[in-house]
Amino acid sequence: MPSFVRTEKCDGCKGQDKTACMYICPHDLMRLDKDGSETGHAMRAYNQEPEQCWECYSCVKICPQNAIEMRAYADIVPLGGVVQPLRGTDSIVWTVKFRNGVVKRFKFPIRTTPEGSVKPYEGKPKPDMSKLGQPGLFTMDGAALKGDRSQLLQLK
Ligand code: SF4
Ligand code: SF4
Repeated sequence: MPSFVRTEKCDGCKGQDKTACMYICPHDLMRLDKDGSETGHAMRAYNQEPEQCWECYSCVKICPQNAIEMRAYADIVPLGGVVQPLRGTDSIVWTVKFRNGVVKRFKFPIRTTPEGSVKPYEGKPKPDMSKLGQPGLFTMDGAALKGDRSQLLQLK
């Protein structure tokens, strides 16, 4: 099920040089058709190679317009099935439209703490920026882990 852009919802990320879907796609598949010469829809994004899509849903989730759906390949099943997530701050709602028209929605919590409340560096030592250029790995006690040549792979 590759990604599919609903042109009536997409706003081309308001003319940004790099749209959100272009930025996030790990396979560099999303493109913005600035003048409409590729798709007939100017300033709308599209998946330039649907058969290469990893179906990772990154573009679907990041799109601020909720304009991207996942659709089945026409050569596997007749078109009509659609999956679309809508991400909130504490939950995600998956809307699944079956080919017979049945629509089901599933809501799942995505976090156990309020958004923005996690303090990942609390209780950790402050970084010593003067050590940025030094070799070694950071450990919990702040010491550098010395290299041990015997741990290196020896190629014969
Ligand atoms: S992220 Fe959404 S709104 Fe922005 S260009 Fe892509 S499909 Fe369009
Ligand atoms: S689903 Fe993933 S691989 Fe496919 S176009 Fe979107 S971001 Fe790219």
